[in-house]
Amino acid sequence: MSLRFQAPKGTRDLLPPDTAIWAAVEAAARRVFARYGYGEIRTPIFEETELFARGVGESSDIVGKEMYSFTDRGGRSVTLRPENTASVCRAYLEHGMQSLPKPVRLFYVGPQFRYERPQKGRYRQFHQVGAELIGGKGAESDVEILLMLVAFLGELGFGDLKVLVNTVGDAESRSAYKEKLKTYLLPLKERLSEDSRRRLETNPLRILDSKSPEEQEIVAAAPRLADFLTDASRRHFAAVLSSMEAFGLSFVVEPRLVRGLDYYTNTVFEIVSEGLGAQNAICGGGAYEGLIEELGGAPTYGVGFAIGEDRLLEVLPAHSPARAAAQAIRPVLVAWAGGQLPEDASPSSPTFDLAEELRRQGIAAVDAGGRTGKALYAYADQLASPCLAFVGEEELAAGTVRLRDTATREEQTLERQAAIARLRPAPTEPR
Ligand code: AMP
Repeated sequence: MSLRFQAPKGTRDLLPPDTAIWAAVEAAARRVFARYGYGEIRTPIFEETELFARGVGESSDIVGKEMYSFTDRGGRSVTLRPENTASVCRAYLEHGMQSLPKPVRLFYVGPQFRYERPQKGRYRQFHQVGAELIGGKGAESDVEILLMLVAFLGELGFGDLKVLVNTVGDAESRSAYKEKLKTYLLPLKERLSEDSRRRLETNPLRILDSKSPEEQEIVAAAPRLADFLTDASRRHFAAVLSSMEAFGLSFVVEPRLVRGLDYYTNTVFEIVSEGLGAQNAICGGGAYEGLIEELGGAPTYGVGFAIGEDRLLEVLPAHSPARAAAQAIRPVLVAWAGGQLPEDASPSSPTFDLAEELRRQGIAAVDAGGRTGKALYAYADQLASPCLAFVGEEELAAGTVRLRDTATREEQTLERQAAIARLRPAPTEPR
């Protein structure tokens, strides 16, 4: 019989034991971001559609064709958030954070939604871990955000990721450049894809990062944005690069990197991983000088990044401490060693009792019920139990517990309190 319900196309269920790795990755993010003074923000999953239209930009693919928008019962057009920066900036203004001492440092963790064609590494519901630094000074903010990003990835065990950086200039640089680029591309219009022809009108810069070989050839001979930068943009970028160098961040300047969201200005960056195939970007980010103003605030410098958690987990190194952290809490399996348990034994059976006693002592434990033999060991496998704790008639009478290490198969019988003490996890070191 075929399954009646399945997760919607482009979405997926995250299940144990994988979810423990997700949680460990997120815990690492919280730890590193807290070290840099960032506080967590949780914005609604949906917002007024207009927020994204304005914030992300009408000419972006996201707003143009990827939003999950619907009219609610009150007749309002709302949209599942396709990204989090616009919402964070909306919340920044809504809660008067502009009057807080600057800069304001925020991070978020959560699902985002885009109606894209699903493929490996591309989902309709995906997950991002991101941060925003709002109201800071230009180059210094960019570098802080990049240092934190690299620190987080380092904490996860990544050693060899490529940070691609570029500048898309300030508004003045861009408008001068856009005109030149359009003038160059117009006579070549027939050779451009339908998408690029549309972008010629809406956002010609996006044509620069086309993946098609023919268009790449056209782009290679196009005027370069770098030649149209204002002095301020040029100085900004030079300051970011020299500071990255000073802090030992390895990067590659990628002149064709423009990123798909309209709000970026000056510094943009991306981190790609070789192991991912076509959808190889793990993280994207950049500065946005006009976004807060676009949403009704005063001109404010902002910079941020968003890491695609789904892709990050795909390439998480085998030696990542997050994998070890996910393994750290594995339940002891408490099993009956005295033959068949009476049918009505649960929930006050000796194994149920001991399991709860262990849990009250801070030890992860699961009651194996009446399982014995093969079924018991299969259950221990499924739970990845490090240890079995047996009680039977004999142990009950003697006040003991028999511990069996699942890896070494070594057994020892200890007095009940001594067994509990043996199972207690070592206190974790504060980091
Ligand atoms: P963006 O918000 O487009 O700058 O994307 C930031 C990061 O989110 C990307 O580098 C990806 O890792 C991830 N991402 C974006 N779209 C998707 C998607 N449809 N599925 C999975 N990950 C995505």
